[in-house]
Amino acid sequence: MTTEKTTKLAYYKEPLVFEMEPTKYDKYSPPSIPKEISKKVKDPLTLIPKEMQRENPPNLPKLAEFQLARHYLHLAQMNFAVDSGFYPLGSCTMKYNPKINDFISLDHRVAMVHPFQPARTVQGNIRILYETEQMLNELAGMERTTLQPSAGAHGEFTGIMVIRAYHQDHGEGDTRTEIIVPDNAHGTNPATAAMAGYKTVVIKSKENGLVDLEALKAAVSEKTAALMLTNPNTLGLFESEIIEIAKIVHDVGGLLYYDGANFNAIMGFCRPGDMGFDAIHFNLHKTFGTPHGGGGPGSGPVGVVKKLVPYLPKPLPEFDKKSGKYYLNFDMPKSIGKIKGYWGNFAVIVRAYAYMLSLGAEGLKRVSEQAVLNANYLKKKLLDLGGWTLPFAPEIPRKHEFVLDGEDLKKETGISTLDVAKRLLDLGFHAPTVYFPLIVHEALMVEPTETESKRTLDTFAEAMKQILKESKENPEVILKAPQNTPVSRVDEVLAAKEPILTWFMYKQKEAKK
Ligand SMILES: *Cc1c(COP(=O)(O)O)cnc(C)c1O
Repeated sequence: MTTEKTTKLAYYKEPLVFEMEPTKYDKYSPPSIPKEISKKVKDPLTLIPKEMQRENPPNLPKLAEFQLARHYLHLAQMNFAVDSGFYPLGSCTMKYNPKINDFISLDHRVAMVHPFQPARTVQGNIRILYETEQMLNELAGMERTTLQPSAGAHGEFTGIMVIRAYHQDHGEGDTRTEIIVPDNAHGTNPATAAMAGYKTVVIKSKENGLVDLEALKAAVSEKTAALMLTNPNTLGLFESEIIEIAKIVHDVGGLLYYDGANFNAIMGFCRPGDMGFDAIHFNLHKTFGTPHGGGGPGSGPVGVVKKLVPYLPKPLPEFDKKSGKYYLNFDMPKSIGKIKGYWGNFAVIVRAYAYMLSLGAEGLKRVSEQAVLNANYLKKKLLDLGGWTLPFAPEIPRKHEFVLDGEDLKKETGISTLDVAKRLLDLGFHAPTVYFPLIVHEALMVEPTETESKRTLDTFAEAMKQILKESKENPEVILKAPQNTPVSRVDEVLAAKEPILTWFMYKQKEAKK
């Protein structure tokens, strides 16, 4: 192992840490080659085909650890996070997530196990899957839940594929071709329907923002595969006629899919299963204690009623009472198959497990209670300012979020909802969700979540009051915002059409200029 070629294999002639005196740890020691191989192969490099061996060492940046640490900390500080401030991004449930859950998910028994280990060596892990599922079943009123899907949108797709498999199994795969969604649905709902091969039928909401039963009756037929709905809906309004809605869809043989992104509003109070839904996804990263945003790892378990269980992705975790052992059941002949590798996003599942166990049934109920209270408190404070209106049934209390309309403000001062959102960044707040749902043109969708204090909500209302004042007296300061952020206004259309995602792409773009 001392040939010249070996040194070539390990391009570590220069120590990686170059600004400090190299220590003995900086010297690279190649991993020892197992005896069986080294006996057969004198030169390990011959194991790699010649044409695949690189000729020059890779041009890696040479940095000390502390430089790297500072670099990443700096990047993190340039970002806005739940840990740095109030983040009322509606529909996303940006609550504070206790660090203890992260800590538990990093335990070596969670982070270092291999999902192909024999079940007897990972009994505790399968038990976590099993018990997490039991708790989710109980919360949603469902028979079984798959923990595989890796996000809400992935859960929607899984749920609709399960529904499709059910219809196919009942000889209606070719005739049930439509999925109904209300006009205030999240964009992922029609996208899911399209991806699963369905035609989307959009129904208009009533004047009070709720599902129009007459429009629904007119839309359903023997072609209806399912209705996709979230309750409370994206306006934060509870669909009080849900039992009737379910009956209309079920009467034509269709099924009901529950978009569980708003589960934070009803947890422990009512169950989608009791409302008549047949399938639901949870967003563990929204409701159950996983930090998210920026596309980080999520988890979107899908719960279903009894008749849909055979079609769920496999395997499902099981407990054998006789032997007292947990195992994964692959014996599901009608399953739609696997939709994600291994156990799903296990670290997120473990966080949800820890979150549910630490809060308990009463604690989870209090989460929703406080989330709804916070939303209605802040809604009142903001409406009292007089700049924004509450479209759709202002007399009905909201659940965990509310949508304001900035149409009047824009007409009066020229300041749009986007401008307000940008100014909020300067004042230390993440912006609410803007321009969603689409049925409110200057929409500002605020979801304070249960974890914020009254003091934070009051400070946010103060900031909104200031913006209202500025919009009348000094609109330039709003139009120039944000000024305190690393980047100011960006061309969002260009960013979406020609995204620059890597340093390499940036360099290429620069070179072209
Ligand atoms: C967030 C959200 C989704 C999609 O969930 P992801 O986990 O982001 O894929 C679907 N519907 C609604 C109402 C949402 O807020």
